[in-house]
Amino acid sequence: MNLSDLNKITSHLSNTDKMPVLFLGHGSPMNAIEENEFVQGFRNIGKEIQKPNAILCISAHWETRGTFVTAMQHPRTIHDFGGFPQALFDVQYPAPGSPELAQETKKLITSTEVGLDDKWGLDHGAWSVIKHLYPDANIPVIQMSIDYTQPARYHYELAKQIHSFRHKGVLIIGSGNMVHNLRMVAWNKLNEVYAFDWAAEASEKMKQYILEGNYQPLIDFKSQGKAFDLAIPTPEHYLPLLYTLALKDKNESISLFNDKPVAGSLTMTSVGIGMG
Ligand code: ZN
Repeated sequence: MNLSDLNKITSHLSNTDKMPVLFLGHGSPMNAIEENEFVQGFRNIGKEIQKPNAILCISAHWETRGTFVTAMQHPRTIHDFGGFPQALFDVQYPAPGSPELAQETKKLITSTEVGLDDKWGLDHGAWSVIKHLYPDANIPVIQMSIDYTQPARYHYELAKQIHSFRHKGVLIIGSGNMVHNLRMVAWNKLNEVYAFDWAAEASEKMKQYILEGNYQPLIDFKSQGKAFDLAIPTPEHYLPLLYTLALKDKNESISLFNDKPVAGSLTMTSVGIGMG
């Protein structure tokens, strides 16, 4: 790459007011097409914050060996689930990609070699929520994968390296669920606001640590006892939270929304940083 190519990439992203950072609890894929209070919460956030130039999403549903970013011009809508109504498979979210932002991400992250991916697209961790924030699908979206071979601290440190995107109009979204244990779902309370005791306990502790800015126990989530073990049986839905928290500046505001449990073993609790 020569110098003029490099300038083209960096000048593509102009300086802006500092963008907020979000963690979105995405829950069931059905939230993509259902009308409920959580969907309303996503919609409100989309209206509340300034319109981004682009979105970078870390979704629970893209795990890889190594870190990758989607670099295609037109990411496909991936229906990465089974057993749902046809209407959900019919959803398309035709937001453009941003090969430029992918290149810029690769350049910013120096702790590892970030791969440019041309096969993934947008999985439901990304499109099922982003479609409520930006229904017109006119804002470019790229995804960054979660390296499943790496510990929590690694993800936290990796996220810090893309902090400058916040000044370039890039909305960074972590999409997962803080409490997420599908094996323990109360199938008879699927659409109910309901938490098992352990889920409530883990959720309360997580929220306390988040609001206090005490991230160490959140990074050390594997040594927080039984409630955390049940809440985070596998890390992929939890780790996007750490990407979000890593991007918070000192003295910046942090708030919760969609803060409710569902089906006993999931929480929809979402986080907004720098929302003003
Ligand atoms: Zn999910």
